[in-house]
Amino acid sequence: MARRKKIYEGKAKILYEGPEPGTLVQYFKDDATAFNAQKKATIEGKGVLNNRLSEFFMSGLNAIGVPTHFIRRINMREQLIRQVEIIPLEVVVRNFAAGSLSKRLGIPEGQALPRPIVEFYYKDDALGDPLVSEEHIIAFGWATQQDLDDMVALALRVNDFLSGVMMGVGIRLVDFKIEIGRIWENDYPRLVVADEISPDSCRLWDIKTGEKLDKDVFRRDLGNLAEAYTEVARRLGVLPSNVTHATKPTLIN
Ligand code: UDP
Repeated sequence: MARRKKIYEGKAKILYEGPEPGTLVQYFKDDATAFNAQKKATIEGKGVLNNRLSEFFMSGLNAIGVPTHFIRRINMREQLIRQVEIIPLEVVVRNFAAGSLSKRLGIPEGQALPRPIVEFYYKDDALGDPLVSEEHIIAFGWATQQDLDDMVALALRVNDFLSGVMMGVGIRLVDFKIEIGRIWENDYPRLVVADEISPDSCRLWDIKTGEKLDKDVFRRDLGNLAEAYTEVARRLGVLPSNVTHATKPTLIN
């Protein structure tokens, strides 16, 4: 049986050729990695949850006019996406101090930041995805000044949307990472949110208890990762129907 052509395999996802030119199929694996893939595990069900959650966030963004690569979900583990030229930068937005920001600058984890902070990391596993400045990005041609302005604007809109959605279900969006891609429409470039948005790439803390509901559960051995992601999906009402009966977001009082 002919299988779709594999275009790229990463740590948590595989990209296959799509059914039409300009499209790809994105497959979500159960693999989890941390610390630049030095820590690895397979977590049953993670791919299914992230496929659903990324669909939920990306289609919500599309609906409010923030362009993304997402077209539609195909099945439990796959979604149809637009093929983009990935800009080789990870764009991180932070609302509260945590992770590498706390470590680098000595700011206590959980401290509210005076304003959202946008950071860029150069996507290069061999270098460990180093933090880079706008000067580096322009000088080395990873993106143009116009791209940078558009990326910051896009990242802040994603931050407002995600923060609001998560707040509605009692979860604090501490920080997150997105990747951004370029598509061409009649010879004009346009930037869109690409890759995935899921608890793999966000820090999500329960507002009341501070419980971590994201990949830090795996990074820091804090418990069962699939259970944490299931809790996020349950609150947002996006669990697959064969797993739960929840169909709408549940407001946490
Ligand atoms: N992040 C990510 N992929 C990476 C690095 C970071 O998704 O390769 C996310 C991470 O989950 C967190 C945010 O980006 O939500 C900020 O991460 P940080 O710079 O604090 O790095 P970390 O502590 O994860 O090393």
